[in-house]
Amino acid sequence: MKQCSKCKKSKELSEFYAQKGGKLGKRGACKQCVKEYASLPSTRKRNNAACRAYYQENKDKNRVKRAKRRAALKRALCDCCSSKDYTSFEATRPEGDYHLDHIIPLSKGGKHCLKNFQWLTAFDNRSKKDKIVS
Ligand SMILES: [Zn+2]
Ligand SMILES: [Zn+2]
Repeated sequence: MKQCSKCKKSKELSEFYAQKGGKLGKRGACKQCVKEYASLPSTRKRNNAACRAYYQENKDKNRVKRAKRRAALKRALCDCCSSKDYTSFEATRPEGDYHLDHIIPLSKGGKHCLKNFQWLTAFDNRSKKDKIVS
């Protein structure tokens, strides 16, 4: 007989899985407890290959999305400003909740250029978007 480390019940040795180096060559927990542990939702999730595949797929999708955004910005880069100019424009950010805005949106062929930059509050940005829609 051997006592299960989980349910504390004394069970026949045949009720324990064999484990090298374990007490009496058996696992500490009985077969019943090991099975119960394996069927816990958290354990199943970790062992779920489909779940891992989904995560991997999502990661790939996000990578593609990021690469596309980077490419769009690169295409929109102008010839007249250097990245140093962009940094100095950043320094002119007004006090408060202002966002860098492209006067002509990049999606409308606007350039990522000092001449196309303005500072807008989140509120201005919303009303501007409304204007474009109407
Ligand atoms: Zn047990
Ligand atoms: Zn420029």
